[in-house]
Amino acid sequence: MPTRLKRLITSAEINSAVQRLASEITNDYRHKNPLLIGILKGSFVFMADLVRRLDMPLEVDFVRLSSYGGGTESSGRIRVLGKMSEPVEGRHVIVVEDIIDTGLTTSYFLRYIRGRKPASVALCALTEKPARRKVKVKIDYLGFTVPDKFIVGYGIDYNERYRNLPDICYIE
Ligand code: 5GP
Repeated sequence: MPTRLKRLITSAEINSAVQRLASEITNDYRHKNPLLIGILKGSFVFMADLVRRLDMPLEVDFVRLSSYGGGTESSGRIRVLGKMSEPVEGRHVIVVEDIIDTGLTTSYFLRYIRGRKPASVALCALTEKPARRKVKVKIDYLGFTVPDKFIVGYGIDYNERYRNLPDICYIE
């Protein structure tokens, strides 16, 4: 691990958090055949671990969102790239996110999903960074609250690197 990376959450801690979230979701969705929609790319590792602990019928989809407006901070002007392969209407949707920072991306996407007449929508986030929140977002299933640092690992990147780290780290 490069020295400028500091470990924040170990893979063992992630494991038990994912197990806890999976138990909560299983209790709530056992007979609902939920559709889990992961926001790419950051959610791919979390989604893979989460669904393997959900012992019930479910479906999985992914979307890519593009943020436009420039800069390193999300502008809240977001587009959904491509089409989702699974219809959302009438489905119990669980949106799966890697990190909620300002909340702009997630609140945009939740509005987009609600516009497609799902039976219900819930939000499952691996991490949230409340220090920088700009819009209120209700997180139904949360892994960790993280400090105001730039995190990487477990699917989350810095310029496409570090997605393969098993721990969640921050860059000093
Ligand atoms: P929001 O719209 O909530 O500000 O932005 C969420 C997106 O910003 C995340 O999906 C992620 O792409 C990026 N982001 C926010 N904080 C971090 C961070 O600490 N590390 C990384 N790698 N990306 C972050």
